[in-house]
Amino acid sequence: MKVAAIFGERAAGVVDVPKPTPKEDFALVKVHVVPMCTEYKAFESGRQGHRFGHEATGEVVEAAQPGRVKVGDRVVVQPGYPCGRCSLCLAGEHIHCQSPRDVRQITGSVAGAATFAQYLLKADWLLSPIPDGVSYQQASMACCGLGPTFGAMQQMGVDAHDTILITGLGPVGLGGVVNANFLGARILAVEGNPFRANLAMKLGADAVLDPDAADVLDQIMDLTGGVGVDKALDCSGNPRAHRLMIDSVRRKGEASFIGEGGEFPLTASRDMIRKGLVLRGSWHYNLADYSKLINVIEQSSDQLDKFITHAFPMSQVQQAWELQSTLECGKVLLDPWA
Ligand SMILES: [Zn+2]
Ligand SMILES: [Zn+2]
Repeated sequence: MKVAAIFGERAAGVVDVPKPTPKEDFALVKVHVVPMCTEYKAFESGRQGHRFGHEATGEVVEAAQPGRVKVGDRVVVQPGYPCGRCSLCLAGEHIHCQSPRDVRQITGSVAGAATFAQYLLKADWLLSPIPDGVSYQQASMACCGLGPTFGAMQQMGVDAHDTILITGLGPVGLGGVVNANFLGARILAVEGNPFRANLAMKLGADAVLDPDAADVLDQIMDLTGGVGVDKALDCSGNPRAHRLMIDSVRRKGEASFIGEGGEFPLTASRDMIRKGLVLRGSWHYNLADYSKLINVIEQSSDQLDKFITHAFPMSQVQQAWELQSTLECGKVLLDPWA
């Protein structure tokens, strides 16, 4: 089967590897759509390899044992190789599992772990059913397109009474605009890239502010009657945005960290105690909420057509990664069979 590979700095293509074989509770999935995520950073730095990706939708073509899926099922592939037995997995929080399974040990190969591939292996309980009438393309937004911000908004209880702030409008932040628009919230965002700021306005943002403006915090306060936003999500991972997020949230508000990042200064009294803030880290969504996320997808079809800005055959993964490098895109999809 074909998989995407990086040969060196900004040099990529497709190579052949053996098709993986399902064992135990693993099923073989024929991949139809591969949403691209942060792998372009490996393309930019030249991290060689041919095991990329963690997002996919596809069709079950073989199951090693009778279980929760059958041949022909259309599925969203959930990320990771969690154990399925610990209290976190049983509570739907498999993304936080501390005892991940070793795919190589179980199946004898790591070939099935990549999603930038024609086939992959996944434990049957991590293959979520796609309803009839939802395309593989739109269903694939149940991975990192809509997933991380959906999970954060579920935890924060975002609704139509809220004004929210999203810092960073990469594909994860743009997905946050789609989710918040669905929930009816008023959406303020902070993003410096004009393409992405424009796209956010088309997806339902009420205002997109420039992070480099010296008065960006004042602008947020002006837009919220001097009080601050009710809830906020950082999708940039930038320490400056982390600081802005904390300063922008009203007293007794809530904020979620979604973009991967490093250290930033936080003050116990000023930021936390006196303000009464709730801060959360949010990576994915609870598996029990999958049907709710599919409902967002079913009802946001027009938005998702705008959010998904490009699709490439996997044979052109070089061009797709070059495009992502320019940041002039929303969510980008690959077809591993073309
Ligand atoms: Zn577990
Ligand atoms: Zn992702």
